[in-house]
Amino acid sequence: MLETVDVGRECIDCYAASAGHDAVAQLAELAKPLRGMRLLHLNATPYGGGVAEILRSEVPLLRDLGLAADWKIITGDETFFRVTKAIHNALQGAVRPLTPQERETYLTYSTRNAKLLEEEYDIIVVHDPQPLALLELHGKGRTKWIWRCHIDTSDPNPEVWGFLRLYLAQYDAAVFTLGGFAPPELPTARIEIIPPAIDPESPKNMELDSNTVRRVLQWIGVEVDRPLVTQVSRFDPWKDPLGVIAAYNLVKHDVPDLQLALVGSMALDDPESWEIYHHIQSASKSDPNIHVFTNLTGVGNIEVNAFQRLSDVVIQKSIREGFGLVVSETLWKETPVVAGRTGGIPLQMQEGAGGFLVDSVEECAERVLWLLRNPEEGKALAAQGRKLVRERFLLTRLIADELRLYASVLGEPPQREQAVARVGLTGEARDPVCGMHVLPRKAITSEYESRVYHFCSSACAKLFKEDPSRFLRSTRDDA
Ligand code: UDP
Repeated sequence: MLETVDVGRECIDCYAASAGHDAVAQLAELAKPLRGMRLLHLNATPYGGGVAEILRSEVPLLRDLGLAADWKIITGDETFFRVTKAIHNALQGAVRPLTPQERETYLTYSTRNAKLLEEEYDIIVVHDPQPLALLELHGKGRTKWIWRCHIDTSDPNPEVWGFLRLYLAQYDAAVFTLGGFAPPELPTARIEIIPPAIDPESPKNMELDSNTVRRVLQWIGVEVDRPLVTQVSRFDPWKDPLGVIAAYNLVKHDVPDLQLALVGSMALDDPESWEIYHHIQSASKSDPNIHVFTNLTGVGNIEVNAFQRLSDVVIQKSIREGFGLVVSETLWKETPVVAGRTGGIPLQMQEGAGGFLVDSVEECAERVLWLLRNPEEGKALAAQGRKLVRERFLLTRLIADELRLYASVLGEPPQREQAVARVGLTGEARDPVCGMHVLPRKAITSEYESRVYHFCSSACAKLFKEDPSRFLRSTRDDA
């Protein structure tokens, strides 16, 4: 049997305060026809990284809504997870192909895990590439299978993609975070765009009073009355921790008492993280004002929450990114962000909300310095960011989108139109860039090859116009 991840109990009604009564009432409506449905979320790790973060919050809420939801993980050793990390990197565009031996390792472990999948489900949602081959190796049965891809696969390594895509042919749907992330020649019949979301009630995002925040960070060694900038990320080259240190070194010339915290987690499925950790240690050991913290030294959800609240600026200097939950987490706490202009980050900081998007170390340093010198302006930007997160990136919206998808995949009739962002149902107008539901009469429009497309914002329209073909991979004729 595959290992089940234990989650606590949650109550959807408790989300009315943070997400609004309408959002909660809508979820109850959407869940009604799906009560009792057996649903499995399957991924590779119970902690570390955005997928685990979402499932820990989502699975108990799905149960509270009446679905028989489980969360299970596949198992493997370091050999397997080195291969899956190489696949992850290749799907994000890294040039290194897989050796024949690595393909064999992937399939050997996938076959083993496929045999361990014993229970029957109505829907299985497979997250990311690690468990992707299980459908083929287990057999589809009567189950509907959905592949939920959280990374930017718009320009994958062709050789690795050519190997993996064969295992996608039988999936009933593939879901991506952004319209532009769908890979070329995807064999899946149905493609959906559903951006991820944060849980406003989780220990990571719940309200903390300022005394607690100060106490928690003081206890682990931060000087709470001195300026502080932080990056919270897995230790991964795509998150550019060394670029963060370089930017901090530039800012330090003007703000000598500045502290930098690099808060990173070691995920079970990410053996590369130790190597990156050692690089960070050697780049920072001569400077006592750089603090490196990990989940292994006791920095957990409450500490991350406190960092995101107390920092003057939070940096997310990613070079490649799936969504970047940390950006929404930070903006929810009304702390300004300086972040790489990549993946799902611009979606969370549209039209200047939340802080600044940057393309280089120098620009990152310049914006951080500006925010340190202009805290009032920074707070105002962050407050706009929180507003955007509340409208679009809370868990209630994500669950609503997914319930619609489940109902639709199982052939249930779509729910009637509601005034909350949604994607993925036949006939609904949606923004092909960010997947948000749009009301055609209020949306920004643009014509391309005699079809009219609708956008939630001028930022999305601009991105679309720069390269429409990127986004058309995930639009349907009836969209
Ligand atoms: N995270 C954490 N502790 C850490 C580093 C990261 O709890 O030391 C969490 C972070 O708060 C966020 C998730 O891991 O919820 C990272 O998700 P994101 O989408 O930003 O990136 P991913 O790791 O999925 O690429």
